[in-house]
Amino acid sequence: MNKSDSSQELPAELVEHVYEPFYVDYEKQIYDLKQLLEISKSLNSTLDYAILIDSILFICMAQMKVIRAAIFAKKNLDATAFSLQRNYKGFDVDHSLDYSIPEDHKLITFFSQKYGCYTLDDIHRELGPLEGLEHIERLEPSLLVPLKAKGQINGILMLGERIDDSDFDPYEREYLLNIATLAAISINNAFLFEMTTTDMMTKLRMKHYLFTVLQERFNNFENPLRNFGIIMFDIDFFKKFNDTYGHTCGDYVLVQAAHIIADHIRSTDIAARFGGEEFVVLVVEENPSAEIQKISFQIAERIRQAIEQAPLEFEGQKLHITISGGIACYDPLVDASPKQVVDRADRALYRSKQEGRNRISIDVPRN
Ligand code: GH3
Ligand code: MG
Ligand code: MG
Repeated sequence: MNKSDSSQELPAELVEHVYEPFYVDYEKQIYDLKQLLEISKSLNSTLDYAILIDSILFICMAQMKVIRAAIFAKKNLDATAFSLQRNYKGFDVDHSLDYSIPEDHKLITFFSQKYGCYTLDDIHRELGPLEGLEHIERLEPSLLVPLKAKGQINGILMLGERIDDSDFDPYEREYLLNIATLAAISINNAFLFEMTTTDMMTKLRMKHYLFTVLQERFNNFENPLRNFGIIMFDIDFFKKFNDTYGHTCGDYVLVQAAHIIADHIRSTDIAARFGGEEFVVLVVEENPSAEIQKISFQIAERIRQAIEQAPLEFEGQKLHITISGGIACYDPLVDASPKQVVDRADRALYRSKQEGRNRISIDVPRN
């Protein structure tokens, strides 16, 4: 007897009762697939590492109905451990502890061999105690999920307790693994993008990256960036460090200057290595009434002073570094493109050099 025959014979309430679970199942699966498609679109829409991690965490929290979520990932290509990413949600983290999982830990080996979602109990049953990860266990994860792309673990997703305290059923675990796979691919892409747009010596972004971001934001149809400043820096008499103490000393000076610049900008600003010993900072203000020229000057001046006062030594030799800077801020009456602002900042830098170095000049357009 086929289904249609039986449905004709059964009373309407019973048909509903018998077949409803099938419809509900399929409807749920279609809904979940649509969700996965949306998640995939959302995760592919950014290559910015921090934004991506945030998106993954929010998606997992919403889809899995958990109140805490975190990701462990490598900080750079040379990293030998997966560290807790700063934008974790909800976990009560002790900041004096180092929450990282060494890549040679048996947990990672286990994840590479047996891909899946695991509770701490599952993991303990398989591996026994997790030596060295006791502080991570104290965060009471409800599930740990490896993020795997191109056959390699590139992160670990950690979920906390659920809103309703329920367990994850096999369907939910499989669904979470699908999200984890999408997340792992996006993390891999964002990681590669970050590597290829970062100058490996100074760890600052490359010039091309800064120009691309600036151009994109300037041309953004909905919210075009207009209130921004450009600071150009050039280390004074840099050649003498190379000539006197060798190229290794020159490289050391470059790295130190880059660190100081990176430490003195806000998270919304971008610092890039422009060329040999030249750096550029994009100072960004979302608030249109903020005094961008004043803010840019304060940032530049703080960097100049910090570099002048930095107690640097190379092979026992005290080094005294100074830097010159030039600033220009976007002016709709004179700048047809962001490139023109950069050119004006370069002119201001040239003036600083001519007027004696170790100073900051501002290009004020005459319009
Ligand atoms: P000024 O005050 O006028 O800027 O003088 P300067 O000596 O800093 O300027 P100049 O442009 O003559 O010298 C820049 C030098 O930077 C020349 C180049 O050999 C060196 N350089 C460029 N890239 C690197 C690098 O990656 N490492 C090292 N060690 N030196 C570099
Ligand atoms: Mg130069
Ligand atoms: Mg120079």
